[in-house]
Amino acid sequence: MPGFEWFGEEERKEVQDVLNTGVLFRYGFDAARQGHWKARTFEHELARRLGAAHCLLCSSGTAALSIALAACGVGAGDEVIVPPFTFVASFEAVLGAGAVPVFSEIDETLCLDPQAIENRLTPRSKAVMVVHMCGAMARIDEIAALCTRKGLILIEDTCQSVGASFGGKALGTFGQMGCFSFDPVKTITCGEGGAVVTDSAERYKTAHAFADHGHDHTGNDRGAEGHPILGYNYRISELNAAVGVAQLRKLDAILATQRAHKAALKAAMSEFPQVSFRSLPDESGDSATFLSFMLPEEKPARQTARDLNSAGADGCFYYYDNNWHYLRQWHHLKQMRAAARLPVQLSGSCPDYSRAEVPRSDAIIARNISMQIKLAWTPEQLEQRIAIIRKVLGKL
Ligand SMILES: *Cc1c(COP(=O)(O)O)cnc(C)c1O
Repeated sequence: MPGFEWFGEEERKEVQDVLNTGVLFRYGFDAARQGHWKARTFEHELARRLGAAHCLLCSSGTAALSIALAACGVGAGDEVIVPPFTFVASFEAVLGAGAVPVFSEIDETLCLDPQAIENRLTPRSKAVMVVHMCGAMARIDEIAALCTRKGLILIEDTCQSVGASFGGKALGTFGQMGCFSFDPVKTITCGEGGAVVTDSAERYKTAHAFADHGHDHTGNDRGAEGHPILGYNYRISELNAAVGVAQLRKLDAILATQRAHKAALKAAMSEFPQVSFRSLPDESGDSATFLSFMLPEEKPARQTARDLNSAGADGCFYYYDNNWHYLRQWHHLKQMRAAARLPVQLSGSCPDYSRAEVPRSDAIIARNISMQIKLAWTPEQLEQRIAIIRKVLGKL
């Protein structure tokens, strides 16, 4: 998954353009910037790549989620369906908006199960935040149809799956808004950065204002801009955007490399009948940042992840025990340890997350191992990895 593996001359050149002009700000300074608009360039190129009408680059993936919630009108008291297997940013953004995260089961796609969502709906349900985890897709066609049928907003957290698609359509373009992260460990990076994409001119306008103090970005005098709404500062700097411009141009080569590496490893693993794979609704659209597989039971899965890592096949994650990505270890959420009182706590409608139960998700994640796919592997290293996999899985 990491674009940082391929950081080089291209990134340095784009950043140097910005350093040469000294214009680090994404708006204005038209003459001084000598034609360099890095944030704007990235936005146009990402929108075109994904087939979205509008793109706004921002300071992080977490900011992108907050912007999307605001631009979709999700706020105080609204319930948002989220998966228990994601990154902590999902519930942070929902809680930050004053809304209530409602955890719903995942299926063997490792993403939200469309049928399970229906059982979680209440009169206060406003949105579904689907998270395309570990490089690949949820059953996004079914989830999008469900949201349309129920009148729910669909926000796609595509932070881990830039470049992935379903049925030839880019992930991030199925709902009202798609969110992306370009932090240092994502498929492509800005150093820090994120983006939202949408086909709605209205939502784009709200997003654009919200991410810059509510400024309306009209006219040439920033000091005279109006404030149609209240906002925050979620802007990206031109330096970060410049890194992203170079990275985005490498995306197709990154995906091709990941897919080739993953295919070789998956073929080797397929020789073992105890191994089953994450279900992929459209395997050709997988961005292949991870190879996610399941063993029949929790105990051998935990042990096998350990054995693979210690035998030299590093980057094997056992997420069931991980406190970044799975509900089970989110003790700060379960105890609602916030820095200050949150809006949801005022309303008295905050669920007791220490009692949140997702038994079907537990049964899947407890048996899952996700192996990170690296770009830098040489053919010899790939062969070595296959040999380690054969040795470790052969002992099962
Ligand atoms: C990385 C990530 C985020 C947050 O992105 P940042 O840019 O680090 O704020 C959100 N959701 C998921 C699923 C992520 O992996």
